[in-house]
Amino acid sequence: MRCMPDMLLDKAPLIMIDESRCVVCPICSSICPTHALKVNIEGAIEMPKVKGKISIDRGKCIPCHLCERVCPREAIRVEVKVSRKDELVKYHEGSPREAEGRITVDLDKCCYCGLCEDLCEALKVVWTRPEAPGFKPGLTVMVNEELCDYCGLCEKICPTRAIKVECYKSPPRTVEDPHIEGSIKVDEDLCVYCGLCAAVCPVDAVSCDSASTVGYVQLYVQWTQ
Ligand code: SF4
Ligand code: SF4
Ligand code: SF4
Repeated sequence: MRCMPDMLLDKAPLIMIDESRCVVCPICSSICPTHALKVNIEGAIEMPKVKGKISIDRGKCIPCHLCERVCPREAIRVEVKVSRKDELVKYHEGSPREAEGRITVDLDKCCYCGLCEDLCEALKVVWTRPEAPGFKPGLTVMVNEELCDYCGLCEKICPTRAIKVECYKSPPRTVEDPHIEGSIKVDEDLCVYCGLCAAVCPVDAVSCDSASTVGYVQLYVQWTQ
């Protein structure tokens, strides 16, 4: 597939890929601005195994959905259970539709952890494939103000303080704090110690050290242009 004008392709440098060192992460394909390089997981080839160490500080991990979505090798599995807003906000009289207020999401601060979407149906993350330089797995967070009663729970749950909620008036209600539980697992047979998970984690719960390449592992790859 040719994805640049011929004139530009004539000037492009020759790119050599040493498949004996490639670990199919596939960061190169995600940073290429013209998507000239793609990594597909097909066909067998011998690849070096990267040596490294990855640790999760379970005391810090929330958990959320971010590192699982960002990992290019699908090496991370996270189970997250967030209490639902409808179970936490109880009206003693009146209805949620009588509440008035304002909600804003600062997308520069949002890391796309996905917790607000789990909490409340008024919030919806538009997911995408993470790409360089930020490797954010989302494009935006949409707010449906028809469904929002400005309870403020999303502001409480957001780890990056990206959400701001002001409630001007509401019928009498009680609002319980949200609760998050879950678990995280890293499959080190798949991990290539690229460090992306550590770079994106909003609470610095991941540490990743990569060392030399040792041994060989059978991976499945096919380069396409
Ligand atoms: S390690 Fe960080 S990014 Fe991954 S689930 Fe835990 S808090 Fe979220
Ligand atoms: S607004 Fe906050 S809670 Fe929602 S996805 Fe972004 S960082 Fe996570
Ligand atoms: S270092 Fe993290 S993001 Fe990179 S492959 Fe390993 S688990 Fe996935």
